[in-house]
Amino acid sequence: MTYQVLARSWRPQRFADLLGQEAAVQTLSNALSSGTFGQAYLFSGLRGVGKTTVARLLAKAVNCAEGPTAEPCGVCESCREIADGSSIDVIEMDAATHTGVDDVRDLQDLVRYHPTRDRYRVIIVDEVHMLSRSAFNALLKTIEEPPPYILWVFATTERSKVPETILSRCQQLDFRPVGVDLIRARLEDIASAEGFSLTASAAAAIAGAADGSVRDALSLLDQLRAFTADAVDDEAVATVLGVPSLEVTTRLIEILAAGETAVGLGLLRERLAAGQDASILYQEMGRTLRTLVYLTLDPALVPTLTQAQIERLQPIAETYGADTLTRMLGLWVEHDLLVKEASNRELALEVAAMRLARWPAVRQLEAWLAGGEAPPPAGGPGPGKTSTPVAGGGAGPSPAKPPVSRSAAAERSVAQLADGDEPGIEHEHDDEHQSEHEDQDGNELETAPEPPVAAEDLIGIAKADPGVILATRILGGEVVAVRPDGEGS
Ligand SMILES: [Zn+2]
Repeated sequence: MTYQVLARSWRPQRFADLLGQEAAVQTLSNALSSGTFGQAYLFSGLRGVGKTTVARLLAKAVNCAEGPTAEPCGVCESCREIADGSSIDVIEMDAATHTGVDDVRDLQDLVRYHPTRDRYRVIIVDEVHMLSRSAFNALLKTIEEPPPYILWVFATTERSKVPETILSRCQQLDFRPVGVDLIRARLEDIASAEGFSLTASAAAAIAGAADGSVRDALSLLDQLRAFTADAVDDEAVATVLGVPSLEVTTRLIEILAAGETAVGLGLLRERLAAGQDASILYQEMGRTLRTLVYLTLDPALVPTLTQAQIERLQPIAETYGADTLTRMLGLWVEHDLLVKEASNRELALEVAAMRLARWPAVRQLEAWLAGGEAPPPAGGPGPGKTSTPVAGGGAGPSPAKPPVSRSAAAERSVAQLADGDEPGIEHEHDDEHQSEHEDQDGNELETAPEPPVAAEDLIGIAKADPGVILATRILGGEVVAVRPDGEGS
């Protein structure tokens, strides 16, 4: 017996079986029940969310021997033939491969004749936005005044590319991306009905990777069944999807959050060298950070975790707490575009990892600025020295580097003060640089954020009091706080 792919064997045969498209289904059901359905529909939405499935259901609904009805019988000749794609009165065309005007002319020929057996000749055009301009023009003539026995259903993943003249002649229905939880539950139902094993966290990982597309989720599940001989677990998902396991991402976050930059980068490079896709690794680390946040709030928010996984993650969640983890997650998410659009994604991922690894230093600095205990410099006294408090921190095996400033002037002043130098000479140089800049571009002088007033002020303060320590916000790079030496300690 040949294996039938799950997307096919589990294709919904009734409107009620459709996943996550309540609004579209409700609209169609009402129209069918009241006999007020239109002659041209346009279904738009992500791939694999049920557009062509609904188109076929609609064909059944109008042609069923019991119909037109919102609940086609499923057993009459029309219903059965439409379901298996052999009905002569239901025509499907994929505009992605039939883009030309000749293809549309073939459809025009079909429109001239009455249906062979059924009430309606249903013409389903998938990916309709792919038609050429001349094909659209030819189509327009046909849908302007369709014969009463014709029902058009257009489907598209890119509605914005469908001409307004076509859109305005169709009833439009939006298909939504299907929620992860709905997909996960469907996968679990299928596994139990088909009698193969699928762990809850594997189902969740597949549903997450499918990105709202039921069809994608089902074809992933097909692959995994074949790969595992019907025992789909987390490890298999990690291998087939190219997704790092929860243990890998947890370990990375654990190391980076502890400030062990070098160790973290080493592990990261190891994964990348083994062929791990950088953006997937980035995404999954974000997912794990979110899971940690959820765990601090309410473990019920992450129902797919196994007991062993909870035991692994809980101590990390407790160490950092909701506030810090939420900020780490926020910091991580800031790199989304960077990782997506970088020409070198691995580098972008490393930048995100390095910034995450600065958290111990940030926390220490914040505690100190709040008047808490002075950061313990490795083998030195407290903030009375001219070293920056961050560099002196001894919590992590790799202390944070001097802060990188977004503003060159601020950066220089911070560096000077950190070194205990007199800022005068460098300051002159800074002015020189500034005037060069002004000569080149007068407009920029008006709008340029530099020299930041804060940096100038800080230099002034530093000149007046050599004991001043500048604290910089490490993450953004800009100077956010100044505390005179000795205060609060
Ligand atoms: Zn029927």
